[in-house]
Amino acid sequence: MRPDLVHLFENARVPRYTSYPTANHFGPLEAATFVAWLRELAPDSRLSLYVHIPWCRHLCWYCGCHTWIDAAGRRAGPFVERLLREIDRVAAELPARMPVVHLHLGGGTPSSVGPAGLCRIVEHLRDHFAFAPDAELAIELDPREVDEALVETLAELGFTRASLGVQTLDPAVQEAIGRIQPAALVERTLHLLRAAGIGRISVDLMYGLPRQTVASIRESARRLADLGPTRFAVFGYAHLPQLKKHQRLVERHPLPGAAERVAQFEAVAEGLGRAGYVAIGLDHFARPDDDMAEAARTGRLRRNFQGYTVDPADALLGFGPSAISDLPQGYAQMAPDLNLWRRRVDAGEPATVRGRALTAPDRAIRAVIERIMCDLAVDLGRIAADTGLPRALLEPDPARFAELERLGIARREGEVIRVPEEMRPLLRVVAACFDRYLAPATARHAAAL
Ligand code: SF4
Repeated sequence: MRPDLVHLFENARVPRYTSYPTANHFGPLEAATFVAWLRELAPDSRLSLYVHIPWCRHLCWYCGCHTWIDAAGRRAGPFVERLLREIDRVAAELPARMPVVHLHLGGGTPSSVGPAGLCRIVEHLRDHFAFAPDAELAIELDPREVDEALVETLAELGFTRASLGVQTLDPAVQEAIGRIQPAALVERTLHLLRAAGIGRISVDLMYGLPRQTVASIRESARRLADLGPTRFAVFGYAHLPQLKKHQRLVERHPLPGAAERVAQFEAVAEGLGRAGYVAIGLDHFARPDDDMAEAARTGRLRRNFQGYTVDPADALLGFGPSAISDLPQGYAQMAPDLNLWRRRVDAGEPATVRGRALTAPDRAIRAVIERIMCDLAVDLGRIAADTGLPRALLEPDPARFAELERLGIARREGEVIRVPEEMRPLLRVVAACFDRYLAPATARHAAAL
């Protein structure tokens, strides 16, 4: 990236735009509103299900997820019981046994509930929902927690995709972030998954970590690409100790600055490109035969709370503490506070506490931002025609967009706003020009670079 752009954006903070409006603009939402939204769903709407399992055995110091530590593994059992009751409660409000095209188990460490817990959750979901024969079942896995029994169970349950949290293979960086995970363990996990028939494997890498260098992350990417996962997600470390106090632990070593972070990302992108992976959206890479690469080629790529997805669902239902549902009427989040979530489930009430109803302009701007984040281009005329809204409502902030045009970060071609390929790392900055709610320099957002 050009040094003037690195300098210009080094202190900027912008949302990741996994939703619009972004979650920091959610407000209180009554459970009754969520129930009304569920009842209004068209019975044949295709659903995506997200289940948040918030337990981890060890705390990684860089962690930005919504998780609690359960070193002894005692809390997972009661959690599964409540989760099943929450599924019952939500499913009871739906107009039918609705079709499901995608299931994602995330966390935390979803396998913390053990093979028996996973069986109970998936079988319970299958009781309440009609899974399409080709529905994709995906799970996030910590290679340190994977063994043969777990992988066999996943295969029997129909899982076909796994995301592995790796972040780095460099032992010095692993020591600095409190996550010791030898490369041999990662390799063994890929081998076990493939042997069980789970061949769609995504690997999460992270740049901008303490003690990380361009050479270090390039080597991690090279070794991981040699293992041949179908996708990579390459995230910048978001250091937000004011929100996640444990992140102070990574401050024993200096964090790379903006120029170094950009150089690290570019090194990964270049290495993965040379290994045959195609760049997708802001931070994903996929083998050309992966369905995400195909979706990106054909304009079917989507963005939701899990990041980029090929999931074609009409609505997303979230279960578990902090999980967010994305319904045609708006967003609804389950209580992030574990005790409140428990109390609400025990009382037989939906645990919804926050969310946001969407206006027609919100939906249109959401579509604009999603296309920019997925396609690096958006046809404003087409979205105006699709939504029936006046074209002027979709315009970016004039002053901010003029500045981006002057800098060569975005350009206008008739009705189309386009972001040049080399400006891919600044997609969020372009999307932010359309955000009607963005407060300047919000410290809650991740760094722009
Ligand atoms: S395994 Fe993942 S969710 Fe759990 S503490 Fe580590 S980074 Fe956070």
